[in-house]
Order: sequence, then structure tokens, then C-alpha cells
Amino acid sequence: MSSKNFTLNIAHLYPKLLNIYGDWGNVLTIKNRCEWRDIDVNIDAIGIGDIIDIKKYDIYFLGGGQDQQQIAVSKELQKHKSSLQDAADEHAVFLAICGGYQLLGHFYQPHNAERLVGISLLDAYTIAGDKRFIGNVTAKCKYTIPETLVGFENHSGLTYLQGETEPMAAVSTGYGNNGKDKTEGARYKNVFGTYLHGSFLPKNPHFADYLIKLALKKRYKEDISLSPLNDELELIAHKSLVNKKY
Ligand code: GLN
Repeated sequence: MSSKNFTLNIAHLYPKLLNIYGDWGNVLTIKNRCEWRDIDVNIDAIGIGDIIDIKKYDIYFLGGGQDQQQIAVSKELQKHKSSLQDAADEHAVFLAICGGYQLLGHFYQPHNAERLVGISLLDAYTIAGDKRFIGNVTAKCKYTIPETLVGFENHSGLTYLQGETEPMAAVSTGYGNNGKDKTEGARYKNVFGTYLHGSFLPKNPHFADYLIKLALKKRYKEDISLSPLNDELELIAHKSLVNKKY
């Protein structure tokens, strides 16, 4: 089936608090790549105190942020924990970056501060490390062709995966989840977390399309093919990081 006359609804969660390093660019990428294919996109910015109608949304996005902003979002997310877990069980697509990613796990334990409780969409937990991981990352992902993913990381949190939550990718260069087990990001059902800022999706158009197809399948209950786009510029940016000598 072609992708004409389809609609996707996106909930951008707490953009006024979690949007460090222009992570909003991920939502813009999904919007543009849908609209270039005549797929209509509605984006709702969800703020503190807003309701989240999980019947409406196909994609949920959470950007990154510093510990302070994470505290406020951690508290607010607890009000929506059960409904967002239902959304994940119904295969809604979640993409969370860095600080947002950490809050989709069980907890984030900062240095010398109270533990931030997550909403356990991912069987993962994060503990602040002594070193800040800053720099470009290249990784290998089994869900896409090309399999390479690129981005920029800046975090002190060390994230560990357990149970059925699997890595989103395997680190080729950079630190990834914790700088030890060579994993980057996490996936459980259609919930994805990653440390890749940049923002992430503009330089990884193949992953953006992968998420769009998952969201279309969640909404329309069938595989919907996406017409090809001219990704020449996006892939020049992508390959410049893949081929960079680190
Ligand atoms: N405060 C978190 C950390 O340092 C997340 C930072 C971010 O979102 N870039 O690990």
C-alpha cells in the first residue's frame, strides 16, 4: 500500500524542559519525512499538567536535558506511568534521547542527589559515573540498511540493560550506554532510547523511516511502504561521521 492519505499523531513530551542540543530536530525530521510522502502529521507539545490521551498518539518523543530538568519530568511522568506502559504494550513508538532515555528505565541515580524514578518502559537503570562521555559515536544497528548509526553523546549517566530489553545498536566508536559493554541505546517492543544527540534522526534518515513504518503499522495494522526520498545530503552528513578517523 502506498503511504498517501495516512496520518500520524506525535506527542512531544515536555519540550520546554527536555530539548537540549536541539533534540526537537528529531520530531521535525519525522514530520518532514512523512509530509514529503503525503502522510499528514499532527504534533502536540505536552507540558507539565497536561493530559496524555494514549488513544490519540502513535509516536512519543522525549529529548535530553540536565539533571534539574529531569527531576521535574521524572515527577510528572509518574502520573502517566500506567497509561504510557499501556501505549508501549500497544506498540506505540517511543524515541527518547539521553536524559529522556534514562527516564524510560527504572531510575536515574545522579551524583549526590535523590534518585529520579523512571516509568520502566525499558528494563534498564542508570547510575551517574565519574566521567562525562562527550564526543561523536558510530554504531551498528540490526534494524536498518545501512546498519550504521551516528550521533553525538554528552552524558555522565551509565545505563545498564537487563531482561528482554536489548541494545538498539553496538558501539563502533565512542562510549554508548556505559563505556564498558559496547552497547548503545535500548529497545523493548517499539520503545527506543539512545544517547545519540545531534540531533539523531537528520543524520540517520534510514532510522527515521524505520520508526515511521513502525508507527504506521501500529496505527493501520499493516506494513505500509514508504516512497524513496532523495537522501543525498543526509547521507553525506552520515558518511562524514562514519568515515571520520577517530
Ligand atoms: N543528565 C544526564 C546525564 O548527564 C543526561 C544528559 C543529557 O540529556 N545530555 O547523563
